[in-house]
Amino acid sequence: MTSHDLPAALGGKPAFSKPFRAYQPIGREELDAAVAVLKSGKLSGFIGAWVPEFYGGPRVRRLEERWARYFGVRHALSVNSATSGLYAAIGALGIEPGDEVIVTPTTMSATVTGIVLYQAVPVFADISPDTFCIDPAEVERLITPRTRAIIAVDIYGATADWRRLRGIARRHGLQLIEDSAQSLGGRYLGRRSGTFGDIGVFSLNRHKHIHCGEGGLCVTDDDRLAERIRLIRNHGEAVVGARGTKDIVNILGFNFRMNEVEAAISLEQLKKLEGLVRERIKISDAVRDAFRGLEGITVPEVPAGMRHVYYYLCLKLDPRKAGLSRKAFVQAMNLEGVPLREGGYEPIYYQPMYQRKIAFGRKGYPFTAPYYRGKADYRRGLCPVAERMWERELFYFPTQSSMPCAAEAARMGPAARRILRHAAAVEKRLAAHGR
Ligand SMILES: *Cc1c(COP(=O)(O)O)cnc(C)c1O
Repeated sequence: MTSHDLPAALGGKPAFSKPFRAYQPIGREELDAAVAVLKSGKLSGFIGAWVPEFYGGPRVRRLEERWARYFGVRHALSVNSATSGLYAAIGALGIEPGDEVIVTPTTMSATVTGIVLYQAVPVFADISPDTFCIDPAEVERLITPRTRAIIAVDIYGATADWRRLRGIARRHGLQLIEDSAQSLGGRYLGRRSGTFGDIGVFSLNRHKHIHCGEGGLCVTDDDRLAERIRLIRNHGEAVVGARGTKDIVNILGFNFRMNEVEAAISLEQLKKLEGLVRERIKISDAVRDAFRGLEGITVPEVPAGMRHVYYYLCLKLDPRKAGLSRKAFVQAMNLEGVPLREGGYEPIYYQPMYQRKIAFGRKGYPFTAPYYRGKADYRRGLCPVAERMWERELFYFPTQSSMPCAAEAARMGPAARRILRHAAAVEKRLAAHGR
């Protein structure tokens, strides 16, 4: 056998000798826009009192106007991160201590932390093994008289099953938050991702489809929720008196304000969103094609009518069919020069805060908080699909940072095939090196 037939893990020549192009959406337009703000000397327009500047500076307001128009919603509210946006959304909905909020375990931790911040209780519902978004049947099973809201995440660039989630919410009188940090530019059921919940939340941090450094937006069609988010964003407790606001539960304010530099950059980024997303989809489709038809590897199909925007390009490996572990396969592909990674998101309830119930009182299970009468628990085994994806099956190509061209994508297939052809030897060799 020539070394040409061998995977790099067994001494063959690596398929790629240099890294793929990095994802870089920032250009000349953003630079000029930021410089113009700096030259003006007025880097933020916000004042935390009931004056016209309560609503922020001119670029912040322009961004909110353009964002609302682009997404076809009544209101867009800028914030300094999606984390802040999620906190503000939970506050705005009136979630109170002891309420239960059903949420996916497969997400970035901030999706869940806001629930704890308002002393409510996260109840984790398992995910679909195809889209990795929350499974509506699991949500419905977990509803109790204490359930107030559902937070679903449009994870990895897919969009959650909002048709069913909205039906469940309507039937049970629940509120919906959509964390769409990873699905900017996505679509489903003829609508833009992020516009399905009572409140949708987007991120503009540097890992997302478009960014301004740190930033985010909430969207809603509800005038009352929009104003509550504005109050939570900007020192609401100091504003409601003069404003004459009666509805003040949870209107303890933060400083979640976006500055004018970030807004100026975001305005330019929004113009580029569609082009950037199209390019991302084209590249992701080429990578998907490269991994099709390989023994033991599944390329998840995108549900009909969904525009997937590939925050990550997720794939699955069946260790029995592939003849090697996910760890060995991913390592062997890394040796070929393909930056695959294992796992995606660790189920949130694996975090020490949930395992040790730190946020809920010191005596552990059952909850000791005086206001909580339920019995949420965070034992391993709670969400078997989310756990299996994290521990054994899911791996991904980081489309959010790495942009191979079509020809490079095509060469990933033969590289993977060489590894799978020598699966047992690769597993043995990598194990021997102590990994
Ligand atoms: C990035 C991200 C967040 C948090 O966004 P920030 O703007 O960094 O606070 C929340 N949820 C998901 C799913 C994310 O990917």
